Amino acid sequence: MIVVMRRDASAADIEGVLARLRERALTPHISAGAERTIIGILGPVGASGVASALGSITPELGAMLEGLDGVEQVLEVSKPYKLASREFHPEATLVHVPSPGGEVVIGASEVVMMAGPCTVESEEQLMAAAHAARAGGATVLRGGAYKPSTSPYGFRGLGAAGLKLLALARQQTGLAVVTEVMTPAEVELVAEYADILQIGARNMQNYYLLDEVGRSGKPVLLKRGFSATIEEWLLAAEYILAQGNPNVILCERGIRTFERMTRNTVDINAVPLVKQLSHLPVVVDPSQGTGKRSLVASVALAAVAAGADGLIVEIHPHPDAAVKDGAQSLHLAQYAELMPRMRAVAAAVGRE
Ligand code: PEP
Ligand code: MN
Repeated sequence: MIVVMRRDASAADIEGVLARLRERALTPHISAGAERTIIGILGPVGASGVASALGSITPELGAMLEGLDGVEQVLEVSKPYKLASREFHPEATLVHVPSPGGEVVIGASEVVMMAGPCTVESEEQLMAAAHAARAGGATVLRGGAYKPSTSPYGFRGLGAAGLKLLALARQQTGLAVVTEVMTPAEVELVAEYADILQIGARNMQNYYLLDEVGRSGKPVLLKRGFSATIEEWLLAAEYILAQGNPNVILCERGIRTFERMTRNTVDINAVPLVKQLSHLPVVVDPSQGTGKRSLVASVALAAVAAGADGLIVEIHPHPDAAVKDGAQSLHLAQYAELMPRMRAVAAAVGRE
């Protein structure tokens, strides 16, 4: 349920509504927009420590709230996801990522570039990619230390040693770090090194993992599962938000379709659609999305044109020798060539 305050509602009017909610042990989420304040209401906190979406929210409660001073109207949130919905939170969410090179803001006018290797392989490889990423204008370094491998015989990452290399690259370049975490037990360790926790496509519906990254309070990059509908994806985001962590970045990374000429099919529709349905920032991964190096730049530009708040792109000093995803990794020179084109497309759609 959401309470829409009148434009001229006073601070005392808002406090009056909050007091009535507190009396009923309901959890208010205040969204103070430029025009008016909107108060989202979730039900009481249950045994799991999470406010329920239903709880004791009844039509009688709505009628009571509608009678309070400064209230314009009370609406039901029609979507199954509540905290993630635009109805609940009309203003766009900005995710602030502290980093040694200065704060990175995702969801503002600047399109954020995240670049780096699929997998952390060695100090030499990671540093070469990180310095190139930064020189091109990226503000976030990507790189997996824990890799979800489709085959049990595939490389599964350097683990903690990979995290340490990411920390070194962060220190040397000032870039923020995004890296994947795969189990609830490892969230604490990965969160010590990462500025953004990545939830991979394969784990989008690993609900205990979503709870745990929610509890960490860290920014989370939530990949769309390759067979997930947009509603399922937003419900996965809801798990993280429901733990009190508002710092969720959605990532469209391609879905599985009948088409086998590309690794996945980037759902470009999802970018403007999710921005209509949700206040959360959206980034696109054209590397997993296409699986083909020759397509990455075009799809990256299309994503920016479609309104993406950022991109996450795989780059590698020697893609042909990469332990993972070499076929979709850009050569460092190709990435350098892409960046000025990205700037031109961003400017054409009113972004930086
Ligand atoms: C990756 O970013 O390298 C990766 C494994 O992504 P996804 O979870 O989208 O497949
Ligand atoms: Mn990859």
